[in-house]
Amino acid sequence: MDNELKKTMQRYAKENDVPIIEQEGLDIILKILKKQEAKIILEIGTAIGYSALCMNEINNLMIYTIERDKLMYEQAVLNIKKAKKEDEIKLLFGDALIDEFILPPKIDVLYIDAAKSQYQRFFERFEHLVKPCGIVIFDNLKFHGYVDMELEDIKSRNLRQLIRKLKNFNEYVKTIDGYDYQFIDQGDGIGILRKLEQ
Ligand code: SAH
Ligand code: MG
Repeated sequence: MDNELKKTMQRYAKENDVPIIEQEGLDIILKILKKQEAKIILEIGTAIGYSALCMNEINNLMIYTIERDKLMYEQAVLNIKKAKKEDEIKLLFGDALIDEFILPPKIDVLYIDAAKSQYQRFFERFEHLVKPCGIVIFDNLKFHGYVDMELEDIKSRNLRQLIRKLKNFNEYVKTIDGYDYQFIDQGDGIGILRKLEQ
């Protein structure tokens, strides 16, 4: 993606409160994708297509990415078109937990970056696609530092509920059978599950 498009997308995200990945987290994810020699990724939570376009720069890998918000999806369509990446980034419109999608039978990486309160459900719905030795990446496990706070110190009820769920997820993810887990305390907190050979 050319620098101008990248800057335009970053500006749009800032002005419209779209939570695109920040550089530190992105650098880590790109490093993992390289090492993994990933060819096919499924992303949950496209937003405007920023992370998809950034990830695609590694080996021009194929990305399938799901977005349920019409406005976000339409922005992503425009951006992918501007970047001329329609052949490599497949935008899927719908709710990742409800709708049916045509997806590849095996993926190298599942990148979960949609509603933070639903991470376990996204994982359970799509993990069967991850091939042995493939990985699952979770973004925003620290949620801007709130996850390290005591629940009673969080005043907003909605935020408290979200953080409670994310705290529970952070515990649950360590216990999943058939995977090794690693938490990377950089960016907004990145979780990596690696699927065991069998
Ligand atoms: N990956 C993007 C940011 C995604 S923000 C980037 O870093 O550039 C999270 C997005 O997930 C939002 O646009 C939201 O609409 C979408 N989302 C949340 N829940 C979803 C669901 N159940 N199905 C599909 N998309 C969902
Ligand atoms: Mg994110």
